Amino acid sequence: MTDLKDATRAPDWQDDVRQGVRHVRDLDCLPLSPAERAAAQAAAALHKVRAPKAYLDLIDWNDPADPIRAQVIPSLGELEEVEGELGDPIADHEFSPVPRLTHRHADRVLLFPTYQCAVYCRFCFRKESLTSIGRGYTREALEPALAYIADHPEIREVILTGGDPLSLPDKALAEIFARIEAIPHVRLLRIHTRVPVALPSRITSGLVAVLQGRLMVTVVTHFNHAREITPATEVACRIMRQAGFVLLNQSVLLKGVNDNVEVLEELCRELMYRLGVKPYYLHHGDLARGMAHRRTTIAQGQALVEALRARLSGICNPVYVLDLPEGGGKVSLGPCPIEGREGDTWRIRGQDGVVRTYREIVGE
Ligand SMILES: *Cc1c(COP(=O)(O)O)cnc(C)c1O
Ligand code: SF4
Repeated sequence: MTDLKDATRAPDWQDDVRQGVRHVRDLDCLPLSPAERAAAQAAAALHKVRAPKAYLDLIDWNDPADPIRAQVIPSLGELEEVEGELGDPIADHEFSPVPRLTHRHADRVLLFPTYQCAVYCRFCFRKESLTSIGRGYTREALEPALAYIADHPEIREVILTGGDPLSLPDKALAEIFARIEAIPHVRLLRIHTRVPVALPSRITSGLVAVLQGRLMVTVVTHFNHAREITPATEVACRIMRQAGFVLLNQSVLLKGVNDNVEVLEELCRELMYRLGVKPYYLHHGDLARGMAHRRTTIAQGQALVEALRARLSGICNPVYVLDLPEGGGKVSLGPCPIEGREGDTWRIRGQDGVVRTYREIVGE
C-alpha cells in the first residue's frame, strides 16, 4: 500500500515548481519591501520572473544584497538601458540558417528545443529570445534544424541550449535524443542547463536513463556562487556522473554576486572537489540590455583569474572568456604571461611573477 502511494505521489520537482514563483503575482508571497516589490513588478514586464522553491529557499531575505536574490529577483537596474547594449549580444540570430539552430563553428551547432526555462536569470544574454507562449518544444518545430544537421556531415557536436533543455519532460528529451542519435556523423550531445542548480530534484534516474545510447553526453551546468552548491545539487550531480556524463560548469562574472576572489575560489574548488564538475568557462559580462549594474571591467576580471590561478589547481581553474559581438566567438581574456621576444628567445612571466627566458630549440 505504501509503495502504491509513493508511486502515485507527484515527484519532488513538481512540488518545487508549484511552490515557487511562476507569475508576477507570486512575488506578493515573498518577503520584499513595498519598494522592492514595485521594482520587481516593473522589471518583470521586460524579462519574465520564475524560480523554483528550492532555489528561493537559498536566499537570505535579511540581506538586500544576497547573491542568490540578485540572480532571480527583478530589480530596477534592468530598466536602465545604456547606449551600446544589444538585444542579441552574441549574434545568435545572424548565424541561424534555419529556425532553432545557430551554426557559427564548423563542427558544432546550437539547437534550441525550447525557449522556456525552469528559472529566469536576471542576467540572461538570451532574455530577448525567451517567451512563455508558443516557443516550447514540438516535434515539428525542430524538423528544419534536424534536417540541417543531417545535411551537414561536418557537424560532430550538437549543443542543446535555449531556454533550458532539461525543463522539458523525459518523453520530449527521449524523442530529441533518439533523433539526434540517428544522425551518424554526430558524436557528442552537449546540454547547457541551469536545472541542476535551480531545480536539482528534476535530475532523476528516469531523466538520465533517456539520455543513454551511442552518443557521448556532456552536461554543462551553470553555477555562479558556492552558496548554490547544496546536498540536493550534490545528489543531482552524482546521478549524472554515475550515468557516465562528463560534467562541466560555466559561470558568468557578475558584479555583486561573484566578483570577489574568495567567492570564485570557493565556487571553483567545491564544483570540482564536491560535485565532480570541472570549471570550464568564466564568462565576462556580454552586452545584454539592462545589465550594466552587474558588469565588471575586463581588468577586474583579469585580476580575479590571476589570483585564482595562484590559489587553485589547474583542474579547478576556468578559462576567462568573452563572447564577442557580431558572432566573433569566444576569446580568452586571461592575462598574457608573454613579456617579449628576441628571435627564438621568449621572455615569459612565471606563476611566481618572475620573468624567465625560454629559448626555442627545434630539430631540423
Ligand atoms: C558558445 C558557443 C559554442 C560552444 O563553444 P565551445 O567553445 O565549444 O564551448 C558553439 N556555438 C556557438 C554559436 C556558441 O555561441
Ligand atoms: S536558464 Fe539559461 S537561458 Fe534560461 S534565463 Fe537562465 S541563463 Fe537564460
